[in-house]
Formats: sequence, C-alpha cells, structure tokens
Amino acid sequence: MLTAVVVPEGLEAVQAALVEESRLLAGGTDLMPRLNDRATPPTRLVSLRRAGLDGIAVGADAVRIGATTTLARIEDDDRLTILRGCVRSIAARPVRGLATVAGNLFVRQPHGDLAVALLALDAEVEIHGPGGPRAQRLDQVLAAGLAPQELVTGVRFTPPQTFRYHKAARRRFNSASIVTVAAALTVVDGVVRDARIALGGLGPRPLRCETAEGVLVGRPLDEPTVRDAARAAETVIEPFDDAYASAWYRRRVFPVHLRRALLGR
Ligand SMILES: Cc1cc2nc3c(=O)[nH]c(=O)nc-3n(C[C@H](O)[C@H](O)[C@H](O)COP(=O)(O)OP(=O)(O)OC[C@H]3O[C@@H](n4cnc5c(N)ncnc54)[C@H](O)[C@@H]3O)c2cc1C
Repeated sequence: MLTAVVVPEGLEAVQAALVEESRLLAGGTDLMPRLNDRATPPTRLVSLRRAGLDGIAVGADAVRIGATTTLARIEDDDRLTILRGCVRSIAARPVRGLATVAGNLFVRQPHGDLAVALLALDAEVEIHGPGGPRAQRLDQVLAAGLAPQELVTGVRFTPPQTFRYHKAARRRFNSASIVTVAAALTVVDGVVRDARIALGGLGPRPLRCETAEGVLVGRPLDEPTVRDAARAAETVIEPFDDAYASAWYRRRVFPVHLRRALLGR
C-alpha cells in the first residue's frame, strides 16, 4: 500500500528522498489514476511540487523548459508558439494545468504527445542522479529509461526552420492519439535538406522514424516523396490495438496523417 507522500524542497532534497521503492510524482495526471486502479504497485511517492524545477528560458537559438513546467504554462507562453498546437492537443485545460513536461516523457502510449514533438525537435534531456547532472538525447532516454534514483530536471532544444505537428484522434480536443506525427524540416528551394520525423500511436513508445527521414532528404516536399516516406516508415512502425483504434486502422490511416503533417492537406 501507499505508505508516504513526501514533498521535499529543492533538487538536493528530492534526490535524498529518492530511496528504493519510491516513485516520482509530478502533476499526477497519469500516475494517480493508475495508483487508484492499482495497476501500479503502491509505493512511496516523492512529489516534485516544491523541487523548484519549473520555468521557461528562450534564448537566441535554444529553448529550455524545466521538468515540472505545466503544459498550460507552455500553452500560455507567446515565445513557445512552436509547441502550442501540440499542448492544446493534450487532454483538457484543467489537466494541462497539472500535467508536466517531464511526466509526459514517461506515460504509456497512446499518450506522450509532447514527447513526440520533443523527439522531432531532437531535444536533449537534463538528468540529475546520485552521480550528479548529465544530459542525454531524448530518443536514448525513451529507449533506455533512467537509472535508479535519477530524475529529469529539464529539456532543451533548438527551434528548427519549420516545425509541423499533427494529431489524429476520435475528437478534435481532449482525446488520445490514434496517430501523432511531428516533423522538424529544413526546406530550401522546395527541396528537403534536413528532416526529423517522430511518431506516436505507432509503437510501444514515441518513435523517431529515420527510414522516412532518409527518403525525404534531397527530394522535393511533394506527394510522391511523402508517399514513399510513408511506405518506408511502414516497415518500422508497430501499431497496437487499444480503446481508441485497432492496430489495423492505425497502420491504414498512417500515410494520410503523415501527408497531412508534412503537406498540410
Ligand atoms: C483525462 C486525461 C487525458 C489525457 N490526455 C492525454 C493526451 O491527449 N496526450 C498525452 O500525451 N497525455 C495525455 N494524458 C496523460 C497525462 O496527463 C500527460 O501525459 C502528462 O503530461 C503527464 O504528466 P504528469 O506531470 O501528470 O505526470 P505524472 O502522472 O506525475 O507522472 C507520470 C510518470 O512520469 C514520471 N515522472 C514525472 N516527472 C518526472 C521527472 N521529473 N523525472 C523522471 N520521471 C518523472 C512519474 O514517476 C510517472 O511514472 C491525459 C491524462 C488524463 C487524465
């Protein structure tokens, strides 16, 4: 059973509180319902509420977002319009007022829409652990997870020339992803010079799709190119069945949503 909820002040105190069997609690929008459902073994919770890890810094070519910054705060920040469409696609405003950036990195699919966007932005994750601070690319963090007693303290990225985000869901707002596509592109004279594509709803975790990127680079950003990129991606996606859509449906509609994300139609 849940034996304690501790609310340490500051990062060092959080670190000290993170003993074995404890679990980090950020906004609690994912963790608390799962605790209530008893799907997660009850344990000791270490709240990040007073960890002092929130905040947004926007420099000339870099953005840093603190781990406990809420999605609502991102939504309201006029310097972060690049992420506004993404955060508005997540849950409803009351949930976004609690849900945090770092929490979104560790939720199960089909959630994790901000993680998909940050993956396309090639975000770097700032991590703090018993050995001190370190930084790691988000794709590696998603694949390998954190070491015991580590926590995320922030994420940072460089805004790309062009960023696209598209989420297909049963309803326009407040509905989980069927397919999410985020893309960071550099296009010069109509030709793709650089591409990073990330997908949600199409695998056990947000997926960086390098096979599709390889097809896009060096070609015009048009329907035949995007069709070929979708075909290439189909070899690596692993769609799944859930309450929102079947694996078959996700695979079937994926090329349409890749096209909508990349071409806007
Ligand atoms: C009604 C509803 C609708 C939702 N719809 C969507 C949706 O459309 N899209 C979507 O992406 N999500 C959705 N979610 C899921 C969730 O709200 C978000 O993913 C949210 O960003 C999770 O953040 P949190 O702060 O609440 O995480 P928590 O629930 O507090 O934690 C989630 C996990 O992250 C870990 N964690 C938290 N902070 C850190 C840290 N700093 N370092 C390491 N580990 C950490 C926790 O230990 C836990 O395992 C929805 C949730 C609800 C309740």
